[in-house]
Amino acid sequence: ESISNIIAAGEVVENPASMIKELIENSLDANSSSIKINVTNKGRNVKIIDNGNGMSKTDLFLSIERHATSKIISKEDIYNLKSYGFRGEALASIASVSKMSIASKNIDSITGHQIYVNAGKIIKDKEVVKNQGTEIEIKELFFNTPARLKFLRTKNTEYNKIKHVVLTQALANYNVSFQLSLDNKIVLKTSGKGFENCITELFSFNILKNLKKFKYGYYGTMDILRSTKDYIFTYINKRYVKSKIIETAIIDAYYTKLMKGKYPFAIIYFDINPKEIDVNVHPSKKIIKFSNDNTVYNDIKSELKKTLWENES
Ligand code: ADP
Ligand code: MG
Repeated sequence: ESISNIIAAGEVVENPASMIKELIENSLDANSSSIKINVTNKGRNVKIIDNGNGMSKTDLFLSIERHATSKIISKEDIYNLKSYGFRGEALASIASVSKMSIASKNIDSITGHQIYVNAGKIIKDKEVVKNQGTEIEIKELFFNTPARLKFLRTKNTEYNKIKHVVLTQALANYNVSFQLSLDNKIVLKTSGKGFENCITELFSFNILKNLKKFKYGYYGTMDILRSTKDYIFTYINKRYVKSKIIETAIIDAYYTKLMKGKYPFAIIYFDINPKEIDVNVHPSKKIIKFSNDNTVYNDIKSELKKTLWENES
């Protein structure tokens, strides 16, 4: 499987949530310590402000060109720990299906610069006064692609998907401050002051109190069992993924402790050599496969079981 095939497989902007995921990853790649997002119009209008490295005027113009990436690239790099981006197609894709403006300033520039893009074409640009960082505003997502617009779900569904994306990103990046507003109402806010504060801010102090550490992250006590699997958060090399194998390993470690229909709360940070990941599965699909599922399953299950059954009365 060639890198270009893997790349081509992905639809980057499937919906507002997947677009926001890409935008957040760009802000994180730019070393931002603060990321603020405001979403309106069912997710079709999005404003994201970061305080990261920013772009020079030249880089700003380049940023919406397809396959313009300042990051990359080898097959292994897809799951590396250095950066989220590697395809250079997120901004180009978003730009082509929206009305967008990007304002940015980097440390070397005295002023910032802003471009206005309509369906992929730059229609205006100007100098702006601005702090270091990047501010991207997307309006009328899918205005020129009625078929995709038709596939947007209800406002509630789109907003819930967006909340989930921001929550999972905030949880993995607890030293970055996140703020999400939906229709100008703040629904999620973290201070960027470490793991413990982040858990309290995203969930509650009670959840924090009932989390215990083990080799591959944190697991919840019997006091915070959930009624869905949605509270098993899995990060492979900092990327949020759905992994059936890891989910099963966690649940199996609890085994007889679990009542029917009850699932553990767990946050798994699992780092693995990218060579051990089957890259035929597209990263943007969030689903991951390992070259050796059994090893991963046994390792996580036995590590969790050890701690879980030792420390609990
Ligand atoms: P990729 O992330 O794969 O490189 P993108 O299309 O997401 O591709 O972004 C294109 C380029 O635009 C990035 O490589 C980066 O140089 C620049 N860029 C995008 N967003 C930001 C941001 N928030 N801050 C600084 N640079 C950015
Ligand atoms: Mg990117």
